[in-house]
Amino acid sequence: MSVQPEQERASETGCWCCGGEYPEAQLVRLGSHPEVGVCLRCARWLQRRAVQRHDEQHPSPAARLRGGIQTVRDAVIRKGWHQRGTLGVVLRWIDRHLP
Ligand SMILES: [Zn+2]
Repeated sequence: MSVQPEQERASETGCWCCGGEYPEAQLVRLGSHPEVGVCLRCARWLQRRAVQRHDEQHPSPAARLRGGIQTVRDAVIRKGWHQRGTLGVVLRWIDRHLP
């Protein structure tokens, strides 16, 4: 395994999930593949997908609660309420504090 020169790695600032360009400080790198960077927003999305997958495999009251929250989240996004002025600001703030 070879290590890429630092100068070459500095140009790898794209998110491998959404394709956006981000400063290095806003990317999370994979342990075994540091060439792969994911932006903080996509990392949170991936974390939620991982928890959802875990909950599907290990049902529990907490898993059902998180599933219910995700169902409401999906409905809000589908209806576009998260993009509506003050209501959107409040809904996005609530979402940042939910599992
Ligand atoms: Zn991204």
